[in-house]
Amino acid sequence: MVNSIVWFRNDLRITDNAVINYCLENKRKVLPVYIHYPSTSLGSASKWWLKHSLISLNKSLKGNLIVIEGNPNKTLLDLVNKNGIKEILWNERYSKNDVNQDNEIINLLKNNNVRCITFHSCLLKNPQNTLKKDATPFRVYTPFYKQQYQDMAYELFDYNTEEIDYVHCNNNEQNSKILDVAIKTEKWHEKLLDQWSPGEVGAQEKLKVFLSHGLKGYTEGRNRPDKQHTSMLSPHIRFGEISIREVAKSLENINTEDAEIFYKELVWREFSYHLLYHFPHLVDTNLQKKFDNFKWLDNQDHLKSWQKGMTGYPIIDAGMRQLYETGYMHNRVRMIVGSFLVKNLMIHWKYGQEWFWDTLVDADIASNSASWQWVAGTGADAAPYFRIFNPVTQSKKFDPNGDYIKKYVPELKNIPIKYIHLPSELDAKSLRSYGVELGNDYPKPIVDLSITRERALDAFKKLSK
Ligand SMILES: Cc1cc2nc3c(=O)[nH]c(=O)nc-3n(C[C@H](O)[C@H](O)[C@H](O)COP(=O)(O)OP(=O)(O)OC[C@H]3O[C@@H](n4cnc5c(N)ncnc54)[C@H](O)[C@@H]3O)c2cc1C
Repeated sequence: MVNSIVWFRNDLRITDNAVINYCLENKRKVLPVYIHYPSTSLGSASKWWLKHSLISLNKSLKGNLIVIEGNPNKTLLDLVNKNGIKEILWNERYSKNDVNQDNEIINLLKNNNVRCITFHSCLLKNPQNTLKKDATPFRVYTPFYKQQYQDMAYELFDYNTEEIDYVHCNNNEQNSKILDVAIKTEKWHEKLLDQWSPGEVGAQEKLKVFLSHGLKGYTEGRNRPDKQHTSMLSPHIRFGEISIREVAKSLENINTEDAEIFYKELVWREFSYHLLYHFPHLVDTNLQKKFDNFKWLDNQDHLKSWQKGMTGYPIIDAGMRQLYETGYMHNRVRMIVGSFLVKNLMIHWKYGQEWFWDTLVDADIASNSASWQWVAGTGADAAPYFRIFNPVTQSKKFDPNGDYIKKYVPELKNIPIKYIHLPSELDAKSLRSYGVELGNDYPKPIVDLSITRERALDAFKKLSK
């Protein structure tokens, strides 16, 4: 029987996994491995998630997962030599660094007579195959969706995970050392366990709850941060704890607009990966070159106020505090805080991208980079730069009763609904009667919205000439 390493990366599950399917179909003995490569940059919230996700994966694999810290090339070669390995199997990743690293490993292993077989299980479609008819990549979402995803049907792998045959290794001591020491988590992470259950079981539960409670009314409800209409699946999808095909297939017999709109959101993720794969510099360079000359401002005080949720604009502050407290922020609010940072504060999108990378449990190289470029107006299929969200108008529309604001900015809980979206409209005496002194209990607005809007538009006009 052939001994095969199953190298887990962004696919931390055993159900509907192309690699596991291959092992069962071809009667492989499986050595499941996760390599923690310290130089791979992961944000703090993601590290916390990863640690718990690996603990959960190890349970799914009946305690057979080996977690190793080190350089993947050397680690894999060592494992090959120690365990009589003939082949290494993995699901592909799509960033340039990952693709380069994988190619290097394939060559190295070939020279050592080890076969590498790779699969595509992290996306609905392999981005290599989602080109336009003229064989160039898409830059706009709608034609991408229509041509590539509209009429797709999904089949899941049909296998019994009880039949996985393992190459047994004594791994407990080593795993705990790496999970506790190498993947360090911070004190503030403890509160995340109240909100989330990383791993396959937690992911399945989230999908179940969403299908029974969130999906109906998703079309409108997904824009409301004060309601629970979205799936909260993003970190589970990010770490591959649930197969994206399984999520898509769960919609198959639901012929409603809500299901269609939700499916389109899944395709936004595909589109982000399409952009990342075909335009790898998406991560750190404006896709629209003209923005390379944009005069961004470097105001560290403004950046800190934004990060801490102390801008004086309640919807922005609620979003930034939700992020810090829960590792998550509602999509509508991500767009509002993003627009405020890059347009009203005129701070480069890379600072927003970095902060989200560190604090989001769903921080994803493709979705985070593509979304920041979209918000900034610098991306491929971007909201035009001159379309600037007014956070107060957005707040009135999408958090009409201020419930979301009150949850995350409790110092404003007694302010009447009419003023909760911009308490600075009230005079000092009225504010005091609601228990708020601006500048003391809650900040004064750090910038004027209309002045900064004009400033951003002027800067953009100069660029367009
Ligand atoms: C500035 C900014 C940064 C973002 N960074 C990330 C990120 O790092 N990781 C991430 O997963 N999403 C990111 N998003 C997209 C989106 O906000 C989240 O995917 C969504 O809020 C996750 O919540 P949910 O699972 O409840 O979403 P649902 O509405 O339930 O959507 C289902 C799934 O579809 C995918 N999805 C939904 N919307 C988008 C989108 N606009 N782009 C790509 N995929 C989408 C996600 O996998 C999500 O879990 C970002 C958006 C913005 C505006």
